[in-house]
Amino acid sequence: MRKPRKPIPAQQRALAQHLGAALKRNVALAPRTSFRIGGPAAFYVEAKTPEALATAVRVARRFDIDYFLLGRGANILMGDRGYPGLVIANHAQAIDVYGTCVTAASGALVYPDLIDAAVAHGLSGLEHYVGIPSTVGGALWQNLHFLSPAPARERTMFIGEVLESAEILTADNERRRVDVDYFEFGYDQSVLHSRDDIVLSATFELEPAPAETLTRIMQENLRWRAERHPPLDSEPSAGSIFRKIEGIGAGRLIDECGLKGLRCGDAQISPRHANIIVNHGRASAADVCALIMHAQRCVQAETGYWLTPEISFVGEFAPVTRLAADARASTAQPATS
Ligand SMILES: Cc1cc2nc3c(=O)[nH]c(=O)nc-3n(C[C@H](O)[C@H](O)[C@H](O)COP(=O)(O)OP(=O)(O)OC[C@H]3O[C@@H](n4cnc5c(N)ncnc54)[C@H](O)[C@@H]3O)c2cc1C
Repeated sequence: MRKPRKPIPAQQRALAQHLGAALKRNVALAPRTSFRIGGPAAFYVEAKTPEALATAVRVARRFDIDYFLLGRGANILMGDRGYPGLVIANHAQAIDVYGTCVTAASGALVYPDLIDAAVAHGLSGLEHYVGIPSTVGGALWQNLHFLSPAPARERTMFIGEVLESAEILTADNERRRVDVDYFEFGYDQSVLHSRDDIVLSATFELEPAPAETLTRIMQENLRWRAERHPPLDSEPSAGSIFRKIEGIGAGRLIDECGLKGLRCGDAQISPRHANIIVNHGRASAADVCALIMHAQRCVQAETGYWLTPEISFVGEFAPVTRLAADARASTAQPATS
């Protein structure tokens, strides 16, 4: 992927002229990601409606300014040197329920806002994703998924299964309504990975269900997550780092290589879940990258499998200075916060 560029003065003037007072400079991004890692955005705007989101994207495209659309920041690693172009933070959060359909602006949080709205109307289909940090746009980008419903947990359920349609801004700046097939959903996959489309809003078609059933599934899924995953508030992370390897699981391979608990600075392969790296306070993106590279090398050497990251690497990265050898020396040290 091409390195994002800093806007030249003429582009900076265009941003100021077209985005007005909403445009901010040098805004910290770490607090706006679930990992709490990364440098600042050189230019930053919050879009509070789908119209504002479409406008910001159109301005960036018209003046050829590199931009990144930020949802909840739960599936990215932001580089330590931040983002030199324009970060558009999606805060468009309106949600409407009409019959069995729920329409949400793409910056709405899947949990709690979207799920709570559906459950309050006795509608089933979204409750499986309780506890997962995500905006609606990020959920479609990645086809949000979870092994549900409890207690059987027989299969992975995908948010694409309940999507009815969405309004997108196409790469040609056209606002268009598309149906679910347009997204070509797969595991951790959608057409959004390969096209420059922006989701503005999404409509989900849900099924009526008794409140007790919905509440039970949500409670059981929250308990399941709490028992297996590091808590996001005290151990910030980006969820699973590597893509699933069919039938084996990236976490199992990392665990088999004895890497659980491995630390590099304040970054650590979670002792609870080997496919999650946690930030114990001051971890840098470079620390996380050192662990990622080390895990890839060890797993390949010992099992022959190559681990592919699931998270996106965004912005500018400082060189990885701490090496795997330093990290290995600290394996299985107790976590400090
Ligand atoms: C603790 C934890 C647990 C997790 N558990 C799960 C899980 O069980 N299942 C699962 O599937 N995932 C899980 N994840 C990963 C993450 O929650 C999802 O990938 C989520 O959908 C990311 O959404 P986001 O809004 O944070 O997207 P971001 O991380 O902000 O962005 C991700 C990508 O989506 C793009 N994007 C965002 N909004 C739009 C839009 N409107 N239009 C087009 N592109 C857009 C961004 O530009 C970026 O490329 C977990 C993450 C964490 C931190």
